[in-house]
Amino acid sequence: MKTSRLPIAIQQAVMRSLRENLARANLKLDRHYPEPKLVYQQRGTAAGTAWLDSYEIRLNPVLLLENQRAFIDEVVPHELAHLLVWKHFGRVAPHGKEWRWMMESVLGVPARRTHQFELESVRSNTFPYRCKCQQHQLTVRRHNRVMRGEVTYRCIKCGEPLIAETSL
Ligand SMILES: [Zn+2]
Ligand SMILES: [Zn+2]
Repeated sequence: MKTSRLPIAIQQAVMRSLRENLARANLKLDRHYPEPKLVYQQRGTAAGTAWLDSYEIRLNPVLLLENQRAFIDEVVPHELAHLLVWKHFGRVAPHGKEWRWMMESVLGVPARRTHQFELESVRSNTFPYRCKCQQHQLTVRRHNRVMRGEVTYRCIKCGEPLIAETSL
């Protein structure tokens, strides 16, 4: 989905959440941390990601459209907290005590690590597979190649072949 197809009102609400949370943090921390870049390019099943080196937050436009409240209340502060923790403490564990402190004591948001969203719409074009260590999402094209017996994909972490979830 192109950013241009995201209603402008949603983009404005997200930006407002980012700015409010940043202002709250700067006030409490007595700093002037800059505003991160906000892009709507996150794909797959992740709600958002924080990129330290480019100091940007990537949000999933498909999930945002369906979960506007959760993005404004939780996903935006969650990703912003990652960037602020990095500015404030340097490189530390992604969801460690510094991040929890930034979420709860500074931003006043419950420090949950994941978001419970209906993932149907972002998963509709992929098929769930499993190895020994995790779930994988294969594209329709890859799934069809597996079904035709042309190829076996392996997990790069554990080296085990990926098995379609439906056949487990
Ligand atoms: Zn996180
Ligand atoms: Zn694996």
